Amino acid sequence: QAKSAGRNTQRFFDPQMQAQVNARAHLESDLRHAIHDGELQVYYQPVMNGHGQLLGAEALVRWRHPGRGLVMPIEFIDLAEQTGLIVDLGTFVMRTACEQLAAWAANPSTQCLTIAVNVSPRQFRNAGFVDEVLAIVDETGADPSKLKLELTENLLLGDVNETVCRMRELKERGVGFSLDDFGVGYSSLAYLKRLPLDQLKIDRSFVNDVLSDVNDAVIVRTILALAHNLELEVVAEGVENAGQVDFLVSNGCERFQGYHFGRPVPISEFERLHGFAPCA
Ligand code: C2E
Ligand code: MG
Ligand code: MG
Ligand code: MG
Repeated sequence: QAKSAGRNTQRFFDPQMQAQVNARAHLESDLRHAIHDGELQVYYQPVMNGHGQLLGAEALVRWRHPGRGLVMPIEFIDLAEQTGLIVDLGTFVMRTACEQLAAWAANPSTQCLTIAVNVSPRQFRNAGFVDEVLAIVDETGADPSKLKLELTENLLLGDVNETVCRMRELKERGVGFSLDDFGVGYSSLAYLKRLPLDQLKIDRSFVNDVLSDVNDAVIVRTILALAHNLELEVVAEGVENAGQVDFLVSNGCERFQGYHFGRPVPISEFERLHGFAPCA
C-alpha cells in the first residue's frame, strides 16, 4: 500500500505532468481574467443558400490573448466547460450576438438575417439559462425568432426530459434550435424525434470527403433524407469547394457554411465582405 502510494506520489511529481498541470492552471486563471477584461471577441461566419444569398451567421468566440495572440476555441472551450467559466463566456457571446441582431433589425437589408450561438451542455443545464437568454433578448431588443441555439448530441447524455422542457420554454418565445455536428456524437433517432429541433448541421467531417469517400457520400445523403422527412432544415458545415456544393445541392441541401462561402471574421469585415441585399 505504502509502496504504491509512494509510486503514485512520485508520478505526480513527474516534471512533464507537473508542467501540464501548471499550464492548465495558468490558462484557467488567464481565461477567468479574459472574460472580464474584454479579451473575448465574437467572429461571424456566413450561412448561405444555394443561390449564394446570405441567410445569417454563426457566432464563434475568439480570445485575443495579450501575449499569445488569437487563441482558437479548441484551446479553451473544454477547459471553460470543465471549470464552469463557460457560463460567463456564454453570456458574453449571447449578449454580443443579440446586440448584433438588434442592430441588423434596424436596417431593411439586414433584418431577415439570423445568428446561431453555440451552447455547451453545462451552459444549457445551468439553472438560470432560460431566464438569462430571455433577459438578454429583452434588454437588447433582439427578435428571438432570429436567434438559433446550437446544441450538441452530448446534451442527450443528460436528462432529456429537462432538456425538452427548457427548449420548449425558449421556443414559445420564438427561439430556434439546431443540432450541431450531427452524426459524430451520441446519436439516437428516438431522441432526435423527441427534441423540438428546427435544424440539423451535418458535421464537417462527412462533408469534407463527400466526393472521395463513398461511405461519407451515403451518410450525407441519408442525413439529408432523414432531416427532410422530419421536416428539419439542414446546414452542411465545412463546405470548402464547388464540387461539394454541387453534390449537396443535387441531394437537396439548401443551406451551406464553410470556407468556400466565407471564413469566420470580425463583424466589420463580415459586413464589408458579405454586403447585404434586401431581404427576399
Ligand atoms: P462548431 O460549432 O461546429 O463551429 C464550426 C467550426 O468549423 C468553427 O471552428 C469554424 O471556423 C470551422 N469551420 C467552418 N467552416 C470550415 C471549413 O470549411 N473547413 C474547416 N476545416 N473548418 C471550418 P471554430 O471557430 O474554431 O470553433 C470550434 C468549435 O468551438 C465550434 O464548433 C464550437 O463547438 C466551439 N465554439 C466556438 N465558439 C463557441 C461559443 O461561443 N460557445 C461554445 N459553447 N462553443 C463554441
Ligand atoms: Mg456550431
Ligand atoms: Mg459544427
Ligand atoms: Mg461544435
